[in-house]
Amino acid sequence: MESMPDIRIILVRPQHPGNIGACARAMKNMGLKHLVLVAPQRLPDDEAMARAAGAGDILSAATIVADVGAAVADCVFVAATSARARTIAWPRLDARAAASVACAQARSGPVGILFGAERTGLTNEEVDYAHVLVQIPVDPGFASLNLAAAVQILCYEIRCAVQEPAPGPGPEPEHRPAPQEALNGFLQHLERVITAIGFLNPHHPRKLMRRLTRLFRRARPDDNELQILRGILSAIEHPYPARGGPRPGPDNT
Ligand code: SAH
Repeated sequence: MESMPDIRIILVRPQHPGNIGACARAMKNMGLKHLVLVAPQRLPDDEAMARAAGAGDILSAATIVADVGAAVADCVFVAATSARARTIAWPRLDARAAASVACAQARSGPVGILFGAERTGLTNEEVDYAHVLVQIPVDPGFASLNLAAAVQILCYEIRCAVQEPAPGPGPEPEHRPAPQEALNGFLQHLERVITAIGFLNPHHPRKLMRRLTRLFRRARPDDNELQILRGILSAIEHPYPARGGPRPGPDNT
């Protein structure tokens, strides 16, 4: 069997330590190792260890971070799982398709799969970090799975996808999308500039930044492309001739 891809399971604000342990176990059964906990309510915890059964090593090695941004900073691809349909149109995949895409993307760098808190799920702002929304097909009359059950299904599908790589090309080898941290830095810069020039009214932002976020996540710019975009923003902030000297042209090579 091919080695398991670098796909991390990210639990956002998990409430029940028992569920965290059960997730660690679900991951280890399927050969996944990297668990990330975003602001867990309680940990370390005996109940989590007990439910992890033989997967205490995954739990002990879990990375703990304060927010989703930190959890996905170095990821090249992020998927958000949700039991609910969301109002904003986000690219949607079922668990099987998502697992196959995640495995293909993991060839270019780390991939993260976000899972929401038991009671509330993920917020829209947290979903904004993702490239795709993942729904596990279920009975629409009772769509919400237990957190660890949802993790189990995704991890199982990832294992199946590794065993049977999807036909068709993976990501183009020459395209290396920039990590999320760099893309988010650009998006913050963009928001600053379009606010300063009056295009974005902070009192009536509507969904402008969310739509722009979606556009740039879909485009998946690489480092060089982000540098060009940031160069344009800097030029708007400090227009010629204020900078002095001839402006260097973009590196279009
Ligand atoms: N009450 C919450 C559901 C939380 S269930 C809500 O309405 O959003 C906890 C987490 O398990 C969810 O945030 C999601 O990450 C995952 N999950 C549960 N059911 C799912 C489903 N049918 N498809 C995809 N993910 C699901």
